[in-house]
Amino acid sequence: MGSPGTTVVGGGISGIACARALADAGLAVRVLDRGRRPGGRMASSTLHGRQVDLGASYLTVPDGSPFAPVVADWVRRGLAREWTDTFAVAGPDGVTGSTTGPVRYGTPDGLRSLVVDLATGLDVVQERTVEAVRVGDDGRPTVDGEAVGAIVLALPDPQAQRLLDPREAGVPALDPAGWRPALAVALGFARRAWPADLHGAFVHDSPVLDWLADDGDRRGDGAPVLVAHTTAAFAGEHQADPAQAAPAVVAAVRRLLATDAGPEWTHVHRWSHARPGRPREQEFALIGRVGVCGDGWAAPPRVESAWRSGSALGRELARALTP
Ligand SMILES: Cc1cc2nc3c(=O)[nH]c(=O)nc-3n(C[C@H](O)[C@H](O)[C@H](O)COP(=O)(O)OP(=O)(O)OC[C@H]3O[C@@H](n4cnc5c(N)ncnc54)[C@H](O)[C@@H]3O)c2cc1C
Repeated sequence: MGSPGTTVVGGGISGIACARALADAGLAVRVLDRGRRPGGRMASSTLHGRQVDLGASYLTVPDGSPFAPVVADWVRRGLAREWTDTFAVAGPDGVTGSTTGPVRYGTPDGLRSLVVDLATGLDVVQERTVEAVRVGDDGRPTVDGEAVGAIVLALPDPQAQRLLDPREAGVPALDPAGWRPALAVALGFARRAWPADLHGAFVHDSPVLDWLADDGDRRGDGAPVLVAHTTAAFAGEHQADPAQAAPAVVAAVRRLLATDAGPEWTHVHRWSHARPGRPREQEFALIGRVGVCGDGWAAPPRVESAWRSGSALGRELARALTP
């Protein structure tokens, strides 16, 4: 950046959408993200030779959302695909019914590929962990001691809170309480040992499972891979040793699917801040040159709302910064 432009902390979909809106308005912007690639909680990892979605499971697009043309463009270019509108409903002992809702979109290359696509052409610095954001009495922010024109925190509130000095004025109020953890457990089987029309299952009344997705089905390659998401309570019990949670998750999945087949491999990913407890209706907050956005805003907390929050903040900040 030549003259100090805006620095966005966080390269999830909200931060990238915010940077996109600022860049589209002709303003200088860079994104600093601690991960190796953009995506945040839209995380896909290569496991046993293929991408597996370990964060968000799918996208939805509410009627009238400004996100609709973005998703339509991804579908047109083959980056996203309509997955299903119907999932199983299950209890701990098996499937009890099904439920139909909005179309869910999956991706051939993993949900992270959509954030990477949105970031094309932007100045994104990966593997950069920001330690401190300060706001001077004149309202001018600094990031790790470097003066910037404006700052956006596009992070879960507990992560944003760590960067700020709460005694400083001029910083939007955060709400770090109530963010819930989750474990995502990928299970790779020798062959598919569940009904072809399972797609995914909302699991009720289980102390372990919250959701089960057929990753091969949603990605479209038919690979015999499931991804289970655990309840927040179960994840909380395994915060220190997530890998030790795999046997209990495998047992719960086998019981749900009534199958003797066990996975050949498992992989556990811990999300310390998977979902906000109290997402706000307001799309973002902006005080002077300091903005905050993400899925803690623009409730309900989803990919679509995170994108909407970041985009709306980017447009508002662009208006504020344009003479
Ligand atoms: C298990 C799980 C399942 C989900 N399922 C769905 C679903 O099916 N459908 C749906 O719509 N949504 C789902 N969600 C929610 C969805 O993933 C989020 O709403 C969305 O991805 C949030 O994006 P974000 O940009 O607000 O935050 P994030 O994606 O969390 O981005 C924050 C970024 O900030 C970076 N960061 C953190 N601290 C620092 C620092 N100090 N310095 C620099 N960078 C930092 C992180 O690396 C990350 O890239 C799910 C989430 C989880 C965890």
